[in-house]
Amino acid sequence: MMDIIGIDLGTTNSCAAVMEDSGKVKLIPYKGGEYTVPSIFAIDDKGNELVGNEAKRQWALNPKRTVYGAKRLIGREYSSHFVTKMHEYFTYDMVEGTEHNVLVAFGDRKLDLTEISSKILNKIRDVAQDYLQHPVSRAVVTVPAYFDDRQRQAVKQAGALVDLDVVRVINEPTAAAIAYGVGRNVNQKVAVYDLGGGTFDISVIEIRNRVYEVKATGGDVFLGGIDFDNAIIDHVVEEFQNKHGIDLKEDAIATQRIKDLAERTKCDLSSRAEAQFNIPFVTMTADGQPLDIDMVIPRSTVEQLTMHLIERTIEITGFVLKDAGIKPSDLDEVLLVGGMTRWPAVQKAVSVYFGRAPSKHVHPDEAVAIGAATFAWSLESDAVDQRITLLDVIPMAIGIEDADGKLHHIFERNAPVPNQKKVLFTTSYDDQAELAMRIYQGEQEQAKVNTLLGEFLFSGIRQGQSGEVRVDVVFDLSQEGILTMSAEDRDTHAQMTTSVKVVSSESNGEPPITVADT
Ligand code: AMP
Repeated sequence: MMDIIGIDLGTTNSCAAVMEDSGKVKLIPYKGGEYTVPSIFAIDDKGNELVGNEAKRQWALNPKRTVYGAKRLIGREYSSHFVTKMHEYFTYDMVEGTEHNVLVAFGDRKLDLTEISSKILNKIRDVAQDYLQHPVSRAVVTVPAYFDDRQRQAVKQAGALVDLDVVRVINEPTAAAIAYGVGRNVNQKVAVYDLGGGTFDISVIEIRNRVYEVKATGGDVFLGGIDFDNAIIDHVVEEFQNKHGIDLKEDAIATQRIKDLAERTKCDLSSRAEAQFNIPFVTMTADGQPLDIDMVIPRSTVEQLTMHLIERTIEITGFVLKDAGIKPSDLDEVLLVGGMTRWPAVQKAVSVYFGRAPSKHVHPDEAVAIGAATFAWSLESDAVDQRITLLDVIPMAIGIEDADGKLHHIFERNAPVPNQKKVLFTTSYDDQAELAMRIYQGEQEQAKVNTLLGEFLFSGIRQGQSGEVRVDVVFDLSQEGILTMSAEDRDTHAQMTTSVKVVSSESNGEPPITVADT
């Protein structure tokens, strides 16, 4: 059996799959027949680290030291608006790390989100090893198509921290398309609509037998099941406030209990018209009388409260189809991925938009791990005719900050990967010895508003007058959408040394570069 597995590192749950000797991909069972490991990490009062179900079980009692949704924060800058917004969602304490990264404070102990993700990856690997009865040291890990370079790198680093070689990071929708197409000689254009716990992704993929070509991709990293849960939580809290004049949001344990039940209620409401929402002794009155939450929530109420979320997914779908240059009716199939696509209003909106019922060929929770394992196997396979080729794109433009603070695009959104661009720079002053540039990824005109990928510094530039020394910088985008750079003197071909440092986007100072040509 293979020692390489496919891992779907989810916001809420993660799961793994492996290609068996029989040629069938199998999901790796966790406990009691479940296939998913909750993507939750906690440190209890005694300092024990807990991952998965153990962490989930004590969540309500230990909300400040239980980390969920780590995937939403991995590879993000502390000062970014994403992280600022996440403070509203999460009950744990986030602080800024020295690399401007996000740390979670567990009392005196602080852990980086990459470390926390590594604990989750390690747990999945342990489960896989237990099942396979042999060591597992390599994996293909999936990420949302919308992840930028920095987030992809962080996932690879998370693997490295626990000696798990993440041989490839592939996009979740691509993995789902592989699960759909494998072994069936499919020649179709498909849309993969993926609404998971925290993120929404939509991709248009052309499948030509074993070639999966992404035509366009887009999404929203702030749109997922959590937002549906929050709509229910807000509704419950508001009703309670109206009835008893008490704001339950000020009580972390009450909020946690409501959150747990809100999610379960939402799942129940996928298959029934109304659900009971009861939490006994949720709080007390000023004179010590216990109070309960006791209400009925109709599905139609949740549909009304969350309609805008579904509309937003359809709006984004429209943009992505436009980027791909196709109409909804041009698609042969629509694949639904992610737990949230079980919600009937999601299925209905998708059916209406595309004018067809979604495919029944993929399992919304399993397709991504299965696709990852299939791809992992194809990387190792000796049979060349079994190889799967992925032609992917980057989700957002990558560029450098110019002298006006604008983003000068090197690669456009939806540029295919792997890719390479050579850009000619000239020195801006006499005897300039270094070339510094800040690289950002995003769609905003002002460079700083985008995600800073890093500051590259090329040193050892030949001495000369301003404008005289010409440096070719090669921007290399790997198949995984990860950027590396190199530079050489156009005239002498001398290579310059590079160093990359991830700096805060708050950093100032004009980059001393002139883009001469692209
Ligand atoms: P994923 O990230 O794909 O694991 O999706 C997890 C999200 O799907 C969570 O927000 C779950 O609450 C949600 N989910 C799972 N099952 C259902 C269901 N039956 N109905 C509605 N949402 C669900």
